[in-house]
Amino acid sequence: MNATPVYPVGLRLDGRRVVVVGGGQVAHRRVAGLLEAGAQVTVVSPEVTPALESLVVPGSLAWIRRRYEPGDLDGAWYAVAATDDPEVNAAVTAEADAGRIFCARADDRWGSSVWTPAIGRHDDVVVGVHGGGDPQRAIGVRDAVVAGLTDGTIADRASRPPAGGRRGSVVLVGGGPGDPGLITVRGRQAISQADVVVADHLGPQALLSSLPSDVEVIDASKLPRGRSMAQEQINALLIERALAGKRVVRLKGGDPFVFGRGMEELEACVAAGVPVEVVPGVTSAVAVPALAGIPVTHRGLTHEFVVVSGHLPPGHPKSLVDWAALGRLRGTVVVLMGVDTAPAIAAALIEHGRPDTTPVAIVSDGSTSSQRTVRTTLRELPKAVTDEGVRPPAVWVVGEVVGLNRPHEAPADDDTDLD
Ligand code: SAH
Repeated sequence: MNATPVYPVGLRLDGRRVVVVGGGQVAHRRVAGLLEAGAQVTVVSPEVTPALESLVVPGSLAWIRRRYEPGDLDGAWYAVAATDDPEVNAAVTAEADAGRIFCARADDRWGSSVWTPAIGRHDDVVVGVHGGGDPQRAIGVRDAVVAGLTDGTIADRASRPPAGGRRGSVVLVGGGPGDPGLITVRGRQAISQADVVVADHLGPQALLSSLPSDVEVIDASKLPRGRSMAQEQINALLIERALAGKRVVRLKGGDPFVFGRGMEELEACVAAGVPVEVVPGVTSAVAVPALAGIPVTHRGLTHEFVVVSGHLPPGHPKSLVDWAALGRLRGTVVVLMGVDTAPAIAAALIEHGRPDTTPVAIVSDGSTSSQRTVRTTLRELPKAVTDEGVRPPAVWVVGEVVGLNRPHEAPADDDTDLD
């Protein structure tokens, strides 16, 4: 076998003619990548997959609806032979070689003048891996490198702003309910590029411990002063660090805009002229019930769900919640920040019409190793909270969805509520 190493290059195909012969899945993958690189792609094939056909756009992708004919590569800078007919692929390759056009032949790497690497992207870094003849190996290494860049275990240090250099910024990152696997890819990237991370006690704490030692990690819950001042302190801190040229990540539990005060932080940054980006997160309102096997909606059963903050009890002068309307609701009610207020809320829902036999599940420490689900009814909720010693953070869910089967949970001994 030919052990001569390849010479890796990055083709700048913007606006250049590229011919792809073939219309199947391999052709589709290649065409997608070529279009991303701005190439003027012509596909030659009697048929193409629906996915490939959907890419046909005048100006960037032309489809010649017939079999390959000699001369089709005229004027091309690059070609791909990806039909399921080896003879056609051989003919395309021969024409390419004669015309000194580099050509990737899908079915015969040794007949190919080009080997296509496994490609990965992380921001504007492009990773291309040749696997020594084994595509799976290339994919594995590519995935590992991209994952490492994404989670910061491979530090992309040069992308950080040099001290006093580039303008600082703030990224409001929704970290999900706690399991580091439930943050978004974009969120992880932002953390791996951060100079400063301002974190809450909810959200993926495990990600903080793997940060390099020169990243400043600030526990927002430990900032001095009273509760209402804390938010102003956080805003001031984000702005101050960003104006000093730092890339600041504000890491929050769940989604930044679901009872997360994200908008206040965003407005403060905008007012101070600090560039700010929002990375949505997996909210505990949906994810924590899901992790306990409870869907917030279910076909034929529930066509609505309401997420409500229980931090103020019904009747509180500052409450903005129409508890009477929620009591009349047939659908799912998801209560956040409502452990202490659970008895008052349950009473209000029952008072306004929700049957006291409605199933309820309280899920605490969702997505962590101490996740726990307590199942009860609206009537028994106050007693269950006390008897089971339920502590925040917890989400509780009211509705028929709580009574559905739990296929992915191990059979419980208290499965009397199963159908
Ligand atoms: N922005 C967050 C919510 C912040 S309010 C989000 O979108 O998830 C804080 C409340 O969220 C807690 O009181 C609790 O009700 C809920 N919560 C957050 N993380 C949780 C978790 N891992 N398990 C259970 N409840 C959680």
